[in-house]
Amino acid sequence: MELDQSTKLASVRQELLSHAKKSPLYKNVTDTSGHIVFGRGSDNAKILFIGEAPGFTENEIGKPFVGRSGKLLEEWVKELGLKTDEYAIMNVVPIIPLSVEKKIRPPTEDDIKYFLPYTEKMIEAIAPEVIVLLGKSAARALEKETMKVGEVCEYLGMKLFFIYHPAYYLRNGAKGIGDLVNLRKLLAERKNGKKQMSLGNF
Ligand code: URA
Repeated sequence: MELDQSTKLASVRQELLSHAKKSPLYKNVTDTSGHIVFGRGSDNAKILFIGEAPGFTENEIGKPFVGRSGKLLEEWVKELGLKTDEYAIMNVVPIIPLSVEKKIRPPTEDDIKYFLPYTEKMIEAIAPEVIVLLGKSAARALEKETMKVGEVCEYLGMKLFFIYHPAYYLRNGAKGIGDLVNLRKLLAERKNGKKQMSLGNF
């Protein structure tokens, strides 16, 4: 019998939990009395946003994208007209990466690789139609580092869309709404049932 998405996800989360506890990063959770940050949103999401790693707010609350970057991401979600049951959000690394000075740092290649099997299992369990890669770390995890902002490509029967990380726009005093154009088109085409779209023609 085929398991439903929620059952599959619960089992992946359970496995991820024990994998994460064995990670060299796990010390950051215990040192800060923080959290391993799983995804949030709908188990049946058609759109899956994938970010980098939790920041301090996410580590404290235990949910991804609940700080400043999360506010901008929610603006994008609103702009795209997504309903709560249509999307989910996760990171390629579920633990806050900290430097020896206890400052936030980007996840290393090794951090990303350590969690890659679970990034893939999460994607498989949710089975979204569209994955939105938020920034370089997410793109690196799926070996899509060469994607340009606003670009769409195929990935295991799903569509991948790449956009800079919300933190990048915040640093530049921008909102990134203009970079969502192709994603909006892609979502509209899917809603209208036009599965065939030309990739080079946005
Ligand atoms: N940035 C991320 O990439 N993920 C979060 O959860 C928060 C900020």
